[in-house]
Amino acid sequence: MSEKEIRTQLLVAGKWQDAADGRTIPVTNPATGQVIGQVAHASKADLEKVVAGAQVGYQAWRSLTAWDRFVIMRKAADLLRERAEQIGRIMSEEQGKPLAQAIIEIQGAAGVIEYFGEEGRRLNDELVPPRAPYVEQRVLHRPVGVVAAFTPWNFPINQIARKLGAALGAGCGVIVKAPEDTPASPAELIRCFCDAGIPAGAVSLVYGVPAEISEYLITHPVVRKISFTGSTPVGKHLAALAGAQMKPVTMELGGHGPVIVCPDADLDAAAERLAAAKFRNAGQVCIAPTRFLLHKEIAAPFIEKFKAQMSALKVGNGLDEGVTMGPLVNERRVKALTELVDDARQKGAELWQPDISMPNDGCFFPPTLVLKPTLEMKVMQEEPFGPIAIMDEYSDLADAVTEANRLPYGLAAYVYTRCERTERLLGEKLEAGMVAVNHHGIGVPEVPFGGMKDSGYGTEGGPEALKAHTITRLVSALHEKPSF
Ligand code: NAD
Repeated sequence: MSEKEIRTQLLVAGKWQDAADGRTIPVTNPATGQVIGQVAHASKADLEKVVAGAQVGYQAWRSLTAWDRFVIMRKAADLLRERAEQIGRIMSEEQGKPLAQAIIEIQGAAGVIEYFGEEGRRLNDELVPPRAPYVEQRVLHRPVGVVAAFTPWNFPINQIARKLGAALGAGCGVIVKAPEDTPASPAELIRCFCDAGIPAGAVSLVYGVPAEISEYLITHPVVRKISFTGSTPVGKHLAALAGAQMKPVTMELGGHGPVIVCPDADLDAAAERLAAAKFRNAGQVCIAPTRFLLHKEIAAPFIEKFKAQMSALKVGNGLDEGVTMGPLVNERRVKALTELVDDARQKGAELWQPDISMPNDGCFFPPTLVLKPTLEMKVMQEEPFGPIAIMDEYSDLADAVTEANRLPYGLAAYVYTRCERTERLLGEKLEAGMVAVNHHGIGVPEVPFGGMKDSGYGTEGGPEALKAHTITRLVSALHEKPSF
């Protein structure tokens, strides 16, 4: 390990500390394979203290006015912006993404936190007109309690910011189980809240064995809501655990983003924007475009333009100047993608990779096109979660919609067309939580962000995300008839 190794601690009842038994997990830079730090590994003794601290911290946080909560959240967002470059370097080193993408993610997260702090000030109660005289029907929106948030490694900060923002904005306390692959940048995010003056225990941070922590927290009576981002199988498992406890969940799971490129599309813009969306974060994005359904009249020119975009990628260490695509997060992901591509090749796919230089060490995987796909190929069923784009053709728009809706996933879908009528039709017909037409700007905090079918339920954007962290209570009071 280098002298600069980062030791990431747990945040327990407002105090940064090592695990009670001193256990740690090594953290590796995926671009070099070098161990760059250690993260504390919580045991049951730590979790007991975390939950006790969270109960106290939640009461302190919910007792503040919405305005005072907003002031602390805005301060945390400002600190995050000030520290974006320094934290971005940490993120790039532990996760692999290019520094510029890390900084954009951090600045976006600051915007998310600020938005939910503001939205918390607008969490208004309602009065419902009564049927009987002197009855007052008040509908109150109150925080649900302590939330357990489980977040993945692909956007180490933004995935937490969405969960933290919505929960804290609603007045909830939060225990974050952050990713062990990329622990140090999330800790820096949480430090911004501590430095902004959040009450001790209102936010806690743990790492360890994900299954042990989730089972402990989900079944603990203090924890009242579960929020998870990750793969569909794990999401189903956690939703079942929560269901047995009658606890609400928000689930943001996998996708297999279909893209319909119509014959009237602006092909230059489509190729450029889709390639940027596909290869961002080396394709490790739940809303990445994956199954490209190209009208047969424009399939060949579109593929040529897309290949040109792929040939312009610079693959390398995310901290090196000019790099546009980094490594995958770990060897497990390299193995998974290699298996998908090998399976496609064996079943008759044509594969294409650009003639660009690839680093020899680290967890790199080349940008890859899968041409002539068939439904027998695993890559047409399973989320690749990497820099793989599948190119297929269609003649009839109805067939393209059938293929887009074929899989159990339903997260993001994309359309490229100049025709407003087609755009509106597909906006209705595509089975997805989000449909983006001619652009990819669906991640802003004020709009819904979530999926349907196996991609999960609930949304992590807009006022709905805040409401999902509240309980709705009716108070119906019969008042005395006034004397005059
Ligand atoms: P994985 O399913 O093992 O883990 C995904 C995330 O869930 C990780 O952060 C992990 O720590 C966590 N996790 C796993 N088991 C858990 C449990 N029992 N309790 C609580 N948390 C648990 O997958 P992976 O190999 O890390 O990633 C591969 C797949 O995960 C991808 O194919 C993709 O489908 C999915 N993924 C999705 C997103 C997303 O943004 N929706 C992000 C990362 C990974």
